[in-house]
Amino acid sequence: MLSLIVCIKQVPDTQKAVFDPTTGAIDRRGTENIMNPDDLHALEMALCIKDRYGARVTAITMGPPQADDVLSEAYALGADECVLVSDPRFAGSDSLVTTRVLSRAILRLGAFDLVITGCEAIDGNTAHVGYQLSEFLSMPLITQIHEFMIDGNHAIIERLYGHEYQKIRVRLPLLLSMGKNSNRVRIPRLVDIKECVEKPISLMTLNDIGGEAGEYGAAGSPTVVIKTEIFTHTRGRAVLEG
Ligand code: FAD
Repeated sequence: MLSLIVCIKQVPDTQKAVFDPTTGAIDRRGTENIMNPDDLHALEMALCIKDRYGARVTAITMGPPQADDVLSEAYALGADECVLVSDPRFAGSDSLVTTRVLSRAILRLGAFDLVITGCEAIDGNTAHVGYQLSEFLSMPLITQIHEFMIDGNHAIIERLYGHEYQKIRVRLPLLLSMGKNSNRVRIPRLVDIKECVEKPISLMTLNDIGGEAGEYGAAGSPTVVIKTEIFTHTRGRAVLEG
């Protein structure tokens, strides 16, 4: 059976976010958390493959303990297994370290055929993690997917390539990165929403994924945020003579 791993991130709902005017950062205490929108499309891709070919879908997130909410949502939508990668020593991780954590956790899950991510998270907005994961896991990354089929140990993919369609055949395992136009996300059934909170979420910590504490968190991150600033627009009225 195919083994599919979907990376999902819990993000603050930036449409409703409250910003601290002095630091420019999101006030996370006053902001509702949601599943990153692109990641719903990544999960939908995995569930469509499961419906068509049969597969085991594992959703994985790195985040604080409360990030398990998005994993429960993944269960309600149809994931078979959910993994929370969480450790206080991961706090302050930049996108490179986030990728290091995710790649090591994914390798601990055993053999897989596809890793599926969203294109971009709506809070960090770097779109780094998918590309970096393909490097860390040494496998091809395919973006802008229009049609996806499995043919033995290969995938046949039609992708939107500028104004053309491109059809490619690529060996598994591979990484797919899904954007918001890729598919239409299903709505969970009421019974699945009720049952999802009972389902077990596996926890992985630094001790489970291995490595030294200095490779993680702020200590292992080459990126430093120097300043965050909210930019504002003002309207003025000017009367031009002549
Ligand atoms: P993108 O690269 O835009 O995401 C692309 C896709 O990758 C997503 O759609 C999703 O499928 C996958 N993905 C991304 N992140 C995750 C995840 N965590 N779990 C599963 N899948 C994922 N963030 C914190 O929450 N706490 C911190 O303490 C923290 N400290 C930071 C310190 C620095 C110096 C910097 C630069 C950033 C920090 N961040 C922190 C932000 C964090 O590094 C990024 O949110 C994270 O690296 C992912 O980058 P992104 O949000 O741009 O995701």
